[in-house]
Amino acid sequence: MDQTAIEKVHCLIIGSGPAGYTAAIYAARANLKPVLYQGIQPGGQLTITTEVENYPGYPDGIQGPEMMVHFEKQATRMGASIRYGLATKVDLSVHPFRVWIDEEKLIEADAVIIATGASAKWLGLESEQRLNGYGVSACAVCDGFFFRGKEVAIVGAGDTAAEEALYLSKLCSTVHMLIRRDKMRASAIMQERVQQTPNIKVYWNSETDEILGEGKVDGLRILNNKTGEKKVVPVSGFFVAIGHEPNSAIFKEWIDMDESGYIKTIPGSSRTNIEGVFAAGDVQDKLYRQAVTAAGSGCMAALDAERWLSAKGLA
Ligand code: NDP
Repeated sequence: MDQTAIEKVHCLIIGSGPAGYTAAIYAARANLKPVLYQGIQPGGQLTITTEVENYPGYPDGIQGPEMMVHFEKQATRMGASIRYGLATKVDLSVHPFRVWIDEEKLIEADAVIIATGASAKWLGLESEQRLNGYGVSACAVCDGFFFRGKEVAIVGAGDTAAEEALYLSKLCSTVHMLIRRDKMRASAIMQERVQQTPNIKVYWNSETDEILGEGKVDGLRILNNKTGEKKVVPVSGFFVAIGHEPNSAIFKEWIDMDESGYIKTIPGSSRTNIEGVFAAGDVQDKLYRQAVTAAGSGCMAALDAERWLSAKGLA
């Protein structure tokens, strides 16, 4: 620990999705000299999507990775210091807050914005990984539009899966919904809606045996885990909706979270239970999870941080 390099930072932003970069743009323009650490997936979840058509300002759509390069360039141009590195440990019991990067460098920060996002859970199939972005998606709202009039499948049985199946049913000809047990976890009203939608075909006790296709999804092999029977259905899209994991583990000791690990913010703000620590984006949002809502909350976090630092005489 004696050799640990220590750097004093005014406003530290952890995470590099739309929330983190937007916070960096606003914080830099407010002269907070933000330092942003990108984490293990620079650019966040958008770097594993293909085309983004629902982010305002891109009338012709844009590739997710390219959009995140734009975000980064804009934050850099405003004067934010964007760095590779992963926050591995924090101590939020002292002020300035202490954040360790890559287990070696110690940052002491007056204000911290947590924008570490969430990661979609995946089934773990080789075909799922290979066809990710080529018909396999973990976001129906982002990618459903590309499968208009086509047959798609969705796996999952919670509220997200139900909501996404209903969303897809309005765009696609048939939605094959795979449920691994004989019941759904989703709320009663959502289950009812799913079951009353004629073009959602529910497969009970059913698992994904394999996603089929080379270069793009063209089918799905379903395994009935009660009978052992396998069945192939032709689909162009395969949506995984089996939950998300907020990337909040290192903050657990200090920050109030719900039972799934989503950070609790004071409604209408980005403030957490610790003064001077703010949260933005998917790490505190399990409902909307959109690039544009994450960016909006990143803006809120930078404005909240600026106000807090000013009130404390630190800005
Ligand atoms: P959940 O954890 O509630 O549900 C995950 C679902 O995925 C479960 O049905 C689970 O099956 C299934 N699953 C998990 N792993 C696998 C696997 N390997 N293969 C097949 N199926 C699998 O996650 P959600 O994202 O749906 O919801 C998260 C939280 O957000 C919940 O509290 C939910 O109520 C809330 N939410 C609320 C909404 C709203 O109010 N409008 C909208 C969306 C979410 P099993 O049941 O067998 O364990």
